[in-house]
Amino acid sequence: MKTYHLIATAAAGIEGIANQELKDLGYETQTENGRVRFKGTAEDIAKTNLWLRTADRIKVVVGEFKATSFEELFDQTYAIAWEDLLPMDGEFPVSGKSVKSKLYSVPNCQRIVKKAIAKRLMDHYARKMPLSETGDYYPIEISILKDVAIITLDTSGSSLFKRGYRTEKGGAPLKENMAAALVKLTTWFPDRPLYDPTCGSGTILIEAALMGRNIAPGLNRSFAAEKWEFFNPEVWSKEKTKARQKINHEIKLNIFGSDIDGRMIEIAKQNAANAGVGEDITFKQMQLKDYRPNEEYGILISNPPYGDRLLDEDKVHQLYQDMGTIYRLMTTWSKYILSSDDSFEKFYGEKASKKRKLYNGALKVNYYQFWSTNK
Ligand code: SAH
Repeated sequence: MKTYHLIATAAAGIEGIANQELKDLGYETQTENGRVRFKGTAEDIAKTNLWLRTADRIKVVVGEFKATSFEELFDQTYAIAWEDLLPMDGEFPVSGKSVKSKLYSVPNCQRIVKKAIAKRLMDHYARKMPLSETGDYYPIEISILKDVAIITLDTSGSSLFKRGYRTEKGGAPLKENMAAALVKLTTWFPDRPLYDPTCGSGTILIEAALMGRNIAPGLNRSFAAEKWEFFNPEVWSKEKTKARQKINHEIKLNIFGSDIDGRMIEIAKQNAANAGVGEDITFKQMQLKDYRPNEEYGILISNPPYGDRLLDEDKVHQLYQDMGTIYRLMTTWSKYILSSDDSFEKFYGEKASKKRKLYNGALKVNYYQFWSTNK
């Protein structure tokens, strides 16, 4: 099987976690801003799409070259053996970006790349008529950074955060891959209690349950490359079968979620059931200050309101204060709280053991970590 240069893209701040996931799957990697490079076959493309929990997309690097003029961009794009990648009727939209480069007009770059690919395919197939583009989907990207162009083919199609289990999501949901990253940044192990007191649509807990059961997060969705005839499409059903065999049906998980909003609890239950982990998580409608878990040595993860989208600032600060009052007493627990509010520690009433800068979508947030004193 042919080996490809591959890229796993990930949100800023998450690359290191995606890199660790790739290493755990056995790949040699190289981390750059917003992406991790590795090499693999069609089988690896299927495997990484199915298994990576924190990445956005898996892309094939089909060309990488210096380009400071449209002629260079056209010629170098035309020089790629597109007929080995795309069928004659493939639909190939070209997206683009350009940073600190001479070729700064993104629409023009997209147009040139599109033209060069079309010309290569038409010449190869000796066609005079424009290509129909009625076939399968081959999303292409031209990305130029400091005059170096990278052309990629996106094997994922829609972003990997779309697992397919979340039918409803409420007002301020986390992306599934971000929720998975939040779990991975904790010391949670499947034998420990896990609690999310502001669980909303349940994303964090569902992602944890998927990890606990070793369920591949992509098992219930489709990917662009599943249909690509030059990429051994049969590998997908093989990798899916292997992934199904790896599910841990035995493990008992101790995962609990609550939210003040009863409607969110209904949604969370439905989403967990869709994800195949409905039996693993207990959800209950309850306000945070009414409850403190009886267990010891657990992990608490919370993505409370920040005072911009869901609640006014005073109420949010009161909530942070309530959190501090209750959670400071849970000394055997490690607490991880995500907030964009720089005064979080002040209202919580304790300085975090560690803060980690992350992005929740475009919003800068801190992941405040309060580690348990007794390990
Ligand atoms: N991570 C969740 C989104 C959480 S949004 C997801 O991915 O869907 C914040 C949640 O905090 C909301 O669902 C809101 O209902 C809940 N909330 C606000 N005040 C609360 C309180 N006092 N007690 C418990 N939950 C509260």
